[in-house]
Amino acid sequence: MAPVDPETVLDGESPLTSHVALTLYLDFATCSLHGSALLTLSAAHSGPLSLDTRSLTIHSAIDPTSLSPIPFSVSQPDPVLGSRLSLSLPAETPLSSILISFSTSSSSALHFLSSPFPYAYTQCHSIHARSLFPCHDTPAARLRFTALLNIPSSLSAVMAARHHVRRHPIPSEGSLSCPDSLWCAPGRIVEHFIMDQPIPPYLFAFAVGHIVSRDIGPRTRVYAGPDVVDEAAREFAGTEEMIRAGEKLFGPYDWERFDLLVLPMSFPYAGMENPRMVFLTPTVIKGDPAGAHVVAHELAHSWTGNLITNKTNEDFWLNEGFTTYAERRIVEVLQGEERAALSMGRGWRELNRTVERFRDNMEFTKLKPCMQGIDPDDVYSQIPYEKGFQFLWRIERQVGRPVFDKFTKKYISTFKFQSIDTETFIDFLKANMPGIENQIDLRLWVEGIGIPPDAMEPVSAVYNKIKTLASEFKNGQMSGDDEVVQWNGQEWQLYLENLSSNIDPSQALALDARYRLSGSRDWEVKVAFLELAISSGCKEYFAEAERLLKQVGRMRYLRLLYTALAKCSDEGKMLARRIYAEARNCYHPIAQGVVESILSKHA
Ligand SMILES: [Zn+2]
Repeated sequence: MAPVDPETVLDGESPLTSHVALTLYLDFATCSLHGSALLTLSAAHSGPLSLDTRSLTIHSAIDPTSLSPIPFSVSQPDPVLGSRLSLSLPAETPLSSILISFSTSSSSALHFLSSPFPYAYTQCHSIHARSLFPCHDTPAARLRFTALLNIPSSLSAVMAARHHVRRHPIPSEGSLSCPDSLWCAPGRIVEHFIMDQPIPPYLFAFAVGHIVSRDIGPRTRVYAGPDVVDEAAREFAGTEEMIRAGEKLFGPYDWERFDLLVLPMSFPYAGMENPRMVFLTPTVIKGDPAGAHVVAHELAHSWTGNLITNKTNEDFWLNEGFTTYAERRIVEVLQGEERAALSMGRGWRELNRTVERFRDNMEFTKLKPCMQGIDPDDVYSQIPYEKGFQFLWRIERQVGRPVFDKFTKKYISTFKFQSIDTETFIDFLKANMPGIENQIDLRLWVEGIGIPPDAMEPVSAVYNKIKTLASEFKNGQMSGDDEVVQWNGQEWQLYLENLSSNIDPSQALALDARYRLSGSRDWEVKVAFLELAISSGCKEYFAEAERLLKQVGRMRYLRLLYTALAKCSDEGKMLARRIYAEARNCYHPIAQGVVESILSKHA
């Protein structure tokens, strides 16, 4: 039986799960989750059936109609895939649904925080949904769901789904998750959610905490802690305008709501495109419209990623390359060509830097790499984003923007609510742009390593000026105040990234003395400066890096700063180890894995 996706135990022969009804009891005292999952299969099935799990204890599996037990076994965990749950469905009466009860206190998707307030949230991309409930954890297995979340009544829950009702627990409704004495205990409440649109499992998401909200548009509400909600509402006030720009470019917004949830500082990504409710790190709030790039990116996923989904992680560029392209088109409409070009310039630098990172393993510089036996978190990089962007931009330059725009709209309407692979995209491209394969080396772009010769650095006056100033600084010439006075975070970030690490410690100190970059309110600028300063050998910034690493869990920052510390000196290595030991619990489990792999590689 042919494997359908190297990241799942699914065999390609059995039916997929089309719906799951979840009851989940969150125990904040023990940081554990007790649940049941009523899985509905797309067709009745008998004989063996495999599901993905990770760090789940399976208590029972039954036929929900006859209540007869279904024999099952759980394999030894594979470091990448987790454990296979093997069920033996009765041969005589094929089943179309299965009821499984389970619990976990070490889910790789779920992060419990105790201070300053109790909070719990999930991050399932790319293969962590299996550590919340047993599932077919591959993007091709799109499913609808309902969820009952039993939580402390002092908190509230939100989900990337439609909120149905908040109500008191009902005896026996959660009996497969936990006893009624817990489910219906005083001080508990149930939040009921429904998701009618089929999603890939990695988009399953919830958060529980002291969460309040503000309406900021006809279909957008900002959710956040009481201390940041007003600031967040101001920052994202332009969201409706952004959605309209997206609709003009890519077709109707199909998810009804576009709400935004600002999470605690430990949230590991800039944003996660969970449908109907995007999850965001508070570090994107900076009182600077350039911060809206992250929202533009997550919004763009509503079309490319959530409507059309990559079939496997090998096709991840279909999600991220398209979304990076779409994000820049939205930014261009709202903020102009120069802003979009700056974003492309940063992308170009990131692309070159990432190719350098993988110089010993060029497989992961391919648009479509082989992911057999690979943990996607270990090779997460900007290649699918920026090489994917470059590929689409190359096609746009070849055929012209009007033709490419028409193609993109047709692509989205043709494949929406489907999960497709790269080959399907290429076939669709060739069918709709006859002869394109004679004009662009499609195979080199998809299967080749590194950066193809017909990729292009963006041309823009502002971008070029910043690069010139950066190279002058490296030669000892400080930029004048009049040259940088108009700069916002994006310009500074590009400038700092263009300095790379080959400046003297004294130059880093002089730059900071003049422009106070280490104290910037813009996290991107602050991290870019600290990385530069530490890499150039400035011990003066160790304390600031420590403060930051104990405050934020966004993985991009952790990657940059832990790597800079671990590589700069023995003292830096020791500091990195100590900070991690003290900050570990503030990081999401996925981020913990990333820092541990940096430390084991460099320190
Ligand atoms: Zn994305």
